[in-house]
Amino acid sequence: MIIGDVRLILADIPVRRPHTMSFTTLEAVNFVFVRIETRDGLVGWGEAACLGGPTWSEESAESIVATLERYVLPWLRGRDARELESLRLEMAKRVQGNPFARAAVEMALWDLNGRALGVPVHRLLGGRVRDRVPLSWSLAVANGDAEVAEAREKVAKGHRIFKIKTAAHPVAEDVARVKAIREALGPDVRLRVDANQGWDRPTALRAIRAMEPYDLDFVEQPVPRWDLDGLAEIARTVSVPIMADESCGSPQDALAIARRGGVAILALKLTKSAGLANTMAIARIAEAAGLGCYVGCMIETSLGTAAYLQAALAAAPVTWGCELFGPLLLRGDVVREPVHYADGCILALDAPGLGVDVDELALKEWIRH
Ligand code: MG
Repeated sequence: MIIGDVRLILADIPVRRPHTMSFTTLEAVNFVFVRIETRDGLVGWGEAACLGGPTWSEESAESIVATLERYVLPWLRGRDARELESLRLEMAKRVQGNPFARAAVEMALWDLNGRALGVPVHRLLGGRVRDRVPLSWSLAVANGDAEVAEAREKVAKGHRIFKIKTAAHPVAEDVARVKAIREALGPDVRLRVDANQGWDRPTALRAIRAMEPYDLDFVEQPVPRWDLDGLAEIARTVSVPIMADESCGSPQDALAIARRGGVAILALKLTKSAGLANTMAIARIAEAAGLGCYVGCMIETSLGTAAYLQAALAAAPVTWGCELFGPLLLRGDVVREPVHYADGCILALDAPGLGVDVDELALKEWIRH
C-alpha cells in the first residue's frame, strides 16, 4: 500500500439557504478534498470543510491547501498507508496546529485501510455500538417566522431535535426565538442552543437563565474557546447542561475541561481534532470522566459526514446524538450514493472504508477555477 499519487481539490458548494451563526452568515462551504492513490491503484478520500474562510477557527480552505501541498504531500508520497498511526504522529511533528488539514489526510488513510481490508472504518475502531444516530437540525435563519416554518417542515419529515444558533443578535431576540420555536413545536421535540463563543460570561448567564423555562437539552459553547474557567463557572451556575465545542479541540483540551468540572458534554468533530484517532481519544476521556458526547459538524458532504459517522457509531459516550446534516443543507454532493437518513436519524454505513464512493464527475461541478 505504497502511496503514489496524492491530489488536493479545492471546491465550493453553496448552502440551500443562508446559515446565520454568531460569527458569520454562510452562503457556501469551502472544501478541500484529499485523494490518495496507492501504487496498486487503491483510492482513499478525505475532506476538510471550512465555513467561509478562517471564521470558525484559524484555518481556511486556502491555508489547508498551502500547508498540505508544501509540508505534507511531498513527504507522504512513497510512504506505506498501512502505517496509519506512524504517519499520523509524524504528520503532527511536521505540521503544528492545522487540525483540519491533518484530519483530511488522516481520513483518506482510514478510508484506504478499511478498503484494503474490506471492512468499514468502524470495525477498525472496535465495531459499532449503534446502528443509527439521532440527528439534530440547526435552525440558523434568524428570522422568526421563516425559522418556525422550517422547523415545522422538518418535524413533518421526522426530525425531533433542533439546535438554535444564537448570539448573532441581542439576547432578547434569541430568547424570543427560543420561546417561539418551543411554543410552535410543543413539548415533545428536543431543543438545544449554540452560541458559538458569542457571549461573555455575564451575557451568557443572562441569556441561559432567560432560556431555562423552554426546556433546553444543553447550551453549547456560550463563551470564547479560551475561557475554560468561564465554561465551568457557567455550568455550575445554571440548570441547563453545558457543552464544550470550540474549547474542546484536542485530547489535552478534553482533559483540561474534565479536570475543571462543570461541563457535561463534549462535542466531537474529526476536523477540529486533527482526525479520527484524536476524536476517539476525546471520547475515551469523556467516558473516563463521566461526560457525554455529541458529534458536531462543519457542514460536510456525504464524504466528510461518513467519516464523522464512523466515530458516532463506534464511540460509546455519544449519547446526545449528532448534527450530521451537511448533505441535507448543501446544494450538491460528491458521492455516488449519499448517506441515509430515516426517522430523525442518520443510518450506519457498513461498506468498506468510510462507506461512500466519491463520484469524481459530481465533484468536478464544484471545483474552484
Ligand atoms: Mg458548535
